[in-house]
Formats: sequence, C-alpha cells, structure tokens
Amino acid sequence: MNAGGTYEVIIVGGGPAGLTAGLYCKRAALETVLIEKGLLGGQIAISKDVENYPGVEGITGFDLSERLVRHARAFGLKIVQEEVTEIRTGIDFHSVRLASGDLLIARALILSVGGTVRKLGVPGEAEYLGSGVSYCATCDGFFFRDLTVAVVGGGDTAVEEALYLSKLTKKVYLIHRRDSLRASRILQNRLVSEPKIEIVWNTVIREILGDGKKVRAVTLEDVRTGEGRELSADGVFIFIGYSPNSHLIPPEVRVNEQGFVITDDRCATSVPGIFAAGDIRQKFANQIVVAAADGCVAALAAAHYVEVQRA
Ligand code: NAP
Repeated sequence: MNAGGTYEVIIVGGGPAGLTAGLYCKRAALETVLIEKGLLGGQIAISKDVENYPGVEGITGFDLSERLVRHARAFGLKIVQEEVTEIRTGIDFHSVRLASGDLLIARALILSVGGTVRKLGVPGEAEYLGSGVSYCATCDGFFFRDLTVAVVGGGDTAVEEALYLSKLTKKVYLIHRRDSLRASRILQNRLVSEPKIEIVWNTVIREILGDGKKVRAVTLEDVRTGEGRELSADGVFIFIGYSPNSHLIPPEVRVNEQGFVITDDRCATSVPGIFAAGDIRQKFANQIVVAAADGCVAALAAAHYVEVQRA
C-alpha cells in the first residue's frame, strides 16, 4: 500500500493508545493514518487475561486488541503495517518516513510507540533465548509442562505470569531482588495461596546456565549476604518491566532521564503539534485503560491543534 502523502494526523504505534487515538481522530473527521510495524494491539496482543479493563469482565489480551482494531476500523481508520524509520519535526508540518521510503506529512503527530521488555543483561540470557529463556509465559509456558521454572521480577506482570505458569509446571520459583513485591495486593494474595510457587526474596540471577542446547540452572546471589548458589530450573521467565521505545522520538521532543516523553495534561510534548500517548509517556500508572485514555486526550488535543492551525 502506498501510504505517502499529506494527512491531518499521523499516529505512530498501534497499541491501545494509538488505536483509541485513531478512533477519536476519525470521529473528529480528521484525515488520519496509523502506522504499526508489528502486532496491532501492541503488548496486550500477547498478554494473557485482562481483568481490569472497565466494562469488560475477563477477556484475553488478543481478543481485546482485536476488538480495539475492529472498533477503530469501523470508523474508517487507515492502518498501515510498516516500519517507521524516521520522524522529523517541522514548523507547520511534521514528517514520518517509512522503511519503504514513503514520506508522510501531517500537522499533528501522535506518538504511541510504547516500550520493549527489559533484559536482565546476565550471561546466558541471550544465548538461551528461545531455549529456556523467555519474556512471554503465554507464548512459551506450554513447553515447560511438568518442569521447573524460575520467574524474575516483583511487579504485576511477574506475579500474573508466575500464577499462569504454576498451572502448567511442576514448580515455580519467583525470584525477586527485594523483600516486598510491587505487585497489586489482589495478585499477591493469589500468589501466596498457590502452593507450587516459592518466593526467593532478596535475590538476583547472576548467570543462566545450560548444557549448550537448553537451560538447566541459574546462579543466584543473595543481595544481603553476597552468598551465591545454583538453582536447577528448566526455564527462566523474565518480567522486570520495560524501556520506552524512544529511538524514533525526535531530539526536539523533551524526554525524562529514562527516555519517557514529558507531556502536559493534554498529552502535548515540548514540540507544538506533537503529542504522546500510552506507555511512551511519562506518568504514574501504565495500564491499558490509561493508555486508552491517553489516546483519547491526545486525539482531542490534536484535533483542536489542527483546527486552530487551519483557521
Ligand atoms: P514493573 O511494575 O516496573 O515491575 C518490574 C519489576 O521488576 C519490579 O519488581 C522490579 O523490582 C523488578 N526489576 C526491575 N529491574 C530489575 C533487574 N534488573 N533485576 C531484577 N529485578 C528487576 O513492571 P511490570 O510488572 O511489567 O508492570 C508494568 C506496568 O503494567 C505496571 O504499572 C503494572 O501495574 C502494569 N500491569 C498491570 C497488570 C494488571 O493490572 N493486570 C498486569 C501487568 C502489568 P523493584 O520492585 O525492586 O523495583
């Protein structure tokens, strides 16, 4: 599809924030295109169950993302599945270059590029990726039926995924670097009542060990005593948060020290006409409902911006 041309709004990123922004832009009758290089739905497309999206009691991430896409398309949103290679700021118009070479320009851009899973950065992690090391329990849990796995992290994702893995595996070690979890109370309560899960507190993984073909153990270190030990595990699932996908963010757009985009309450960035929504935006909570709300706010603010510019 030739996507090049002039639009009123270009949305970069097709997760809940971008898709909601698309829906609102189309309802505001703005000439809009959404660009997504990977899976539409973003991170939620590979999430297991979503239990906290208001009004939707229990749905898989995949089904929710399909609904979001269908809903946005129903309002006529043009979606282009291609990689963005460059975003440039301008005075009246900003531009987006695609891998195909197509150039798109628009008065307003909505950046909803999300984040990427964070890596532990220990020996063995890259080597055994796909052979015991995983960042997605829904995708890979099946391969560890009746085996022992280690899960790393203390947030909602780690706890949810540990609970999921406990249904399939023989034993789950939840390895956390502190003595308390960051995860919500409801998930913590479920965790402690699951007998197959053992929490290993104040501990980090120093190395992932294997036999050359697949993972067989991890080397642990107690952060209080410095003591090391080996723990047998057939798989290591890592859920330690994510980093912003900031490599496409133009240098004129202000970001914080971690690379998250700084916005005002209209999701406006430091560059007029550029808005940020969802996980790329600096904020307190990264939830699907918050990403969707960001998409709405960014689209309404972009619509207002375009209207003022046109006048
Ligand atoms: P998160 O809340 O940032 O938690 C990351 C966890 O990994 C923390 O426990 C952190 O430890 C640990 N960690 C970070 N770097 C580490 C390292 N290098 N080595 C060892 N441990 C490390 O990330 P998340 O769990 O992916 O959640 C992201 C956001 O999505 C959150 O706002 C969360 O509430 C939301 N979420 C919600 C749901 C739900 O409501 N159903 C599900 C999933 C995610 P410390 O605690 O010591 O910092």
